[in-house]
Amino acid sequence: MSEDNQPGIRGAGGLSRRRLFQLGGLTAAVAATGTVTGPFATTARAAEPRAGYDAIVVGLGFAGATAARELRAKGLNPLLLEARGRIGGRTWTDTFVSQPVEMGGQFVDESQPLITAELKRYGIPTATGLVPAKAIMPTPNGPAPFSIAELQSRQGALLERLFEGSRSFFPDPYNPLQEKTLVSQVDSLSLRDRLNQLGLSAADESWINGITAGQSGGSSSYGAYTALAQWWSLAGWNSDAWYRAQSKRVATGMSSVIAAMLADAKAEVRLNTPVTTITDRGDSVEVVTASGQKFTARTVVVAVPVNLWKTIRFNPGLPSVHATATQQGVGVPNSRKLWLHVSGMTEAKVVNGAEGDPFMTVLSHSETSRGQLLMALNSKPAVDVTNRAAVEAALKTVLPEARLIEYRAQDWGAASYSLGGWALRRPGQLSAQLPAIQQPHGRITFATSDIASGWAGFVEGAIEAGFRAADQAASLAGRSIRLSPRR
Ligand SMILES: Cc1cc2nc3c(=O)[nH]c(=O)nc-3n(C[C@H](O)[C@H](O)[C@H](O)COP(=O)(O)OP(=O)(O)OC[C@H]3O[C@@H](n4cnc5c(N)ncnc54)[C@H](O)[C@@H]3O)c2cc1C
Repeated sequence: MSEDNQPGIRGAGGLSRRRLFQLGGLTAAVAATGTVTGPFATTARAAEPRAGYDAIVVGLGFAGATAARELRAKGLNPLLLEARGRIGGRTWTDTFVSQPVEMGGQFVDESQPLITAELKRYGIPTATGLVPAKAIMPTPNGPAPFSIAELQSRQGALLERLFEGSRSFFPDPYNPLQEKTLVSQVDSLSLRDRLNQLGLSAADESWINGITAGQSGGSSSYGAYTALAQWWSLAGWNSDAWYRAQSKRVATGMSSVIAAMLADAKAEVRLNTPVTTITDRGDSVEVVTASGQKFTARTVVVAVPVNLWKTIRFNPGLPSVHATATQQGVGVPNSRKLWLHVSGMTEAKVVNGAEGDPFMTVLSHSETSRGQLLMALNSKPAVDVTNRAAVEAALKTVLPEARLIEYRAQDWGAASYSLGGWALRRPGQLSAQLPAIQQPHGRITFATSDIASGWAGFVEGAIEAGFRAADQAASLAGRSIRLSPRR
């Protein structure tokens, strides 16, 4: 049920802000028509060499959109190539039950300075969902209701124990290697290793191991302790800030922010244009697409997920740190997001699963004329999200009163142009790969949230990486640079 299977649309230059907004937010509806004319029609012919661009940006998620806009601001003319028939990457604002829903990245917070600045710049407000009246939590006898105060005090205290000491190894969480010696002492730990160190009772552990396993993409043994500890530190080293960072969304949808950024990039945009080969020729870079089109520019920003680097042929080959990272993976392997339209619920709820339960979380989002819209995240054991009966059965285990009317799901691990969900570094990756992984490879620079110094795994991190790559690319293109505002 990946959107990669939907019929595609072709894109070309000169898209208006309104058109880009439609592409971001309403792709499914546009694509479903199957016929595309006017400004969406591509003008490129196969194998015709294209030049005249200062830079080529490959991938139009938040990192690519930021890089493109900043390159334009520095006086460069970028060409934007995107594999999918829509913009946004791991963010995707779709419509379900007549409401905008985020199929990928959703929450933003004032503790994240760059996305906060973007929302201010474009005058885009935030919104919140329903406030849950009850929490459904794991117990030895199965899921049971608790008050929100009980959830936050008991789980909050457990999270504080989990991350105890993080203030000493991440005194400035935007500069995660500032205390490199201290960090290297804990960076080899998986979240499972850290849970084991705490020696919690099984009942206590079940209140937090759904978070450690779910955020790791299926098992607490996948994710690095330092990766989640850095999120905790960035949020402000306390549970109130941790919960608050997962409560606000962009009122008009994530795709509207990217659309606004791209309108400022004033660049030629080509959708449905997967890049297969990138060759650094010393004084320029040649990019070849799946259909054999060739484009050249003085520099290229590779703004695709780390997990995708291994699918592109780089000449010369990637440096070993990049090659290792893409083989290991940074985007978590299992990440399925569902929107469930249900009847039968009388109040708003939040469900937390334990490690091994079908859902990491289920959250009441909004009311509809027939019931409620719920947002859910599934990692492992994998619920077959293409099978309605499987989804219904999983939902029944945590919210037996909910009757499924319809649902929508996105499997990010299975999506060809993500091959994973949000980034959560694996044990050892922080000390071994940062900052080398942020450096250009000849005339090629890299931009993705997966390699951010700060909020890696968030939209905030993608914007940080986009600013950095634009600075690097402008320098490689031989322009005197105005340094971008970043930490
Ligand atoms: C389920 C889920 C929930 C999340 N929740 C949150 C949240 O609440 N808050 C938050 O801040 N973040 C969240 N995130 C993370 C956030 O969405 C990502 O960190 C961020 O969007 C990544 O942006 P990016 O630009 O680095 O990469 P992407 O968004 O993945 O963009 C990369 C682009 O490159 C394109 N591409 C790939 N290969 C090629 C190719 N060969 N040629 C051309 N183009 C190519 C892709 O199609 C894509 O458009 C979530 C992610 C997921 C999956």
